[in-house]
Amino acid sequence: MYDPSGVKTSPEFPVPAQMKAWVLGGPDELFLRDKPTPVPGSAEVLVRIDAVAICATDLEVIHGGSPASIQGGLPFNKNFTPGHEYMGTVAALGPGVDEFEIGERVSVEIHAGCGQCKRCRQGMYTSCLNYGKPDKGHRANGFTTDGGFAEYAINHINTLARVPDTMSDAEATLVVTAVAKALGASPVILTGTRNKRLAIGKGLGADRVINIAEENAVEVVKQLTGGIGADYVIECAGTEATLNQAIHMTNRGGKICLAAFPHEPVTTDLAHLVKNNIYVYGIRGEGRSATRRAMALMAEKRFDATKIHTHTFPLADLPTALRYARDRVEDAIKVVVTNRRAGILASAAAE
Ligand SMILES: [Zn+2]
Ligand SMILES: [Zn+2]
Repeated sequence: MYDPSGVKTSPEFPVPAQMKAWVLGGPDELFLRDKPTPVPGSAEVLVRIDAVAICATDLEVIHGGSPASIQGGLPFNKNFTPGHEYMGTVAALGPGVDEFEIGERVSVEIHAGCGQCKRCRQGMYTSCLNYGKPDKGHRANGFTTDGGFAEYAINHINTLARVPDTMSDAEATLVVTAVAKALGASPVILTGTRNKRLAIGKGLGADRVINIAEENAVEVVKQLTGGIGADYVIECAGTEATLNQAIHMTNRGGKICLAAFPHEPVTTDLAHLVKNNIYVYGIRGEGRSATRRAMALMAEKRFDATKIHTHTFPLADLPTALRYARDRVEDAIKVVVTNRRAGILASAAAE
């Protein structure tokens, strides 16, 4: 029975002492294992995970290790549980926690800064200088601490956003992907290589989509912006070609946000950036309580995440879900793994 000292539980949400969790072995090796159900500390809660979406970054972590980092190194064979886009129900409260109640539905932000370093004090907790040091209070669930491909996880109260009752579990897990799409820039131009995904992008509000295999993205963006280029470009592919497209489609004084992780050093037209006073910056995670803001946008129906949620699997079928996400089986876009059907895990464990 789960009854750690100082932790508040409720008979309505019985918590087992052991839980099922997927654990990363070597590259592309995942095992469904029993782990002790984790114990929340002060300002933390135990979240029963109800649904978790698969992100391209999860696929990178499971295959290559980076950008996850456990004990200062690659996350392989360290009993590490990946998964970072999840939502669930508060199942137990750490000592002194009264900000949330057991039974509340929450979506999570993965980063909890240490709260004491210079960057955290500036509010930049996703750039915490104690990144990867759980002893200092830093967490990045699914990257430096255990994540969501499990029955339970620990979250700092600052990383929780309440989920409106009208929103389905699967929709709520997509909240972290929503913000950029819902904030009303005009025109919104989306580039890509797959016409089906581009069509969904149109449904989500893109004013113009460009298939870069068929059109010159830089020329089209210039045409659509009176010849000057875009104010704000978000680069999500991380290849040398797309980085250089981003540089050349941004206007003077514009901004480029780098949202992908290139796998190799890239050669870019830095002179063009300097001559045109273009700002380039990386982002890591969401920051600035973006999950909460995204939740508000979705509650107002400013962003319909159901359009990109294409497949759902039980947690025990995680390997199948990962294959659908990686190989885009049946044109999968956002694949969600759910924990809600009792008995699924029990039957998987028996295999
Ligand atoms: Zn993600
Ligand atoms: Zn910090």
